[in-house]
Amino acid sequence: NKRFVLASRPNGMPTRENFELKTEEAARPEDGEIAVETLYLSVDPYMRGRMNDSKSYAKPYEIGGTFGGGSVGRVTESRHSSYKEGDIVQGGWGWQTHAVVNGDLAVKVDESLAPIQTALGVLGMPGLTAYFGLLDIGQPKEGETVVVSGAGGAVGMIVGQIAKIKGARVVGISGSEEKNRYLSEELGFDAVVNYKTESLDEALAAACPDGVDVYFDNVGGEVSDAVFQLLNANARVPLCGQISLYNVTEPEPGPRFLPLLLTRTALVKGFLVGQYQDRYGEAIPEMAGWLKDGRLKYRENIVEGFEQSPEAFFGLFSGENLGKQLVKV
Ligand code: NDP
Repeated sequence: NKRFVLASRPNGMPTRENFELKTEEAARPEDGEIAVETLYLSVDPYMRGRMNDSKSYAKPYEIGGTFGGGSVGRVTESRHSSYKEGDIVQGGWGWQTHAVVNGDLAVKVDESLAPIQTALGVLGMPGLTAYFGLLDIGQPKEGETVVVSGAGGAVGMIVGQIAKIKGARVVGISGSEEKNRYLSEELGFDAVVNYKTESLDEALAAACPDGVDVYFDNVGGEVSDAVFQLLNANARVPLCGQISLYNVTEPEPGPRFLPLLLTRTALVKGFLVGQYQDRYGEAIPEMAGWLKDGRLKYRENIVEGFEQSPEAFFGLFSGENLGKQLVKV
């Protein structure tokens, strides 16, 4: 068994030195447990937060503890009545090639819905984040303008497509021409803005002639400062992520747009996808239906080889990934 552990905590951008690759003998399952062979592992921005030793919603990784989060694998040995050898399961055993898992904490992957790795993407945590953040907090109405930042990523591209399904006009912001081309040509986004190459204020004003009714914020920082200027009366802002701030070492100045939120009577609401756990069962079949009828598409950025997992993770902060970042073990 190979696994990545946290070797040290980063200051700013994480590096390979923060990771250690360990090789150990694989354990055997006891009663109630299953042994799994990892097929895909998930690489997510929230893992950066867990590398810090600070109190947050997800507890910090321990030094020497296994890194990572969600994975999909095949059961190689079962001592739990719900599983048999060959079943495909997902769970939180992290970045290891093999694991022994409490069967009660794993979930069978419904292989009839879509390829198994979508359990980590469009039909898993990122997809559910898009679905509930947009529909529960954003509540887009037909003809409204929805802006999404981080639009070429796992959550963002699903947000934009669900907003289109609801009849909204959708504007995506990303930092790459390739991503923006995909969003407009393949996914039908109405306008796209590149925050790295364009002047944000001008490009956004041109992309949103009727202002912004919903802003799904994945990135924070200067991108969000610019979008906030355009909020319409009664705008809704699902606050999903702030990736532009995850590696800063000095605190940024606080938000200066609070007067704007007041006069535009806007709602800004942070949320965590886990809050909606009781309702995952309504979202997954609906999204699987949209996938089947072609109204929802997804992209994955798959890095091959377990040992490349840290590099796949670093790529999230330089924007290497078009769509959900995964590692195929
Ligand atoms: P993505 O697939 O979107 O990958 C991250 C992307 O963020 C990169 O590809 C990059 O794209 C962009 N990015 C990186 N650095 C910056 C920066 N400084 N400024 C602007 N954009 C940047 O990740 P996810 O879809 O998994 O997650 C998106 C966001 O949602 C994250 O902030 C994450 O923490 C949050 N999240 C929140 C959840 C919740 O429950 N609230 C659950 C899941 C995710 P580009 O090329 O455009 O720069």
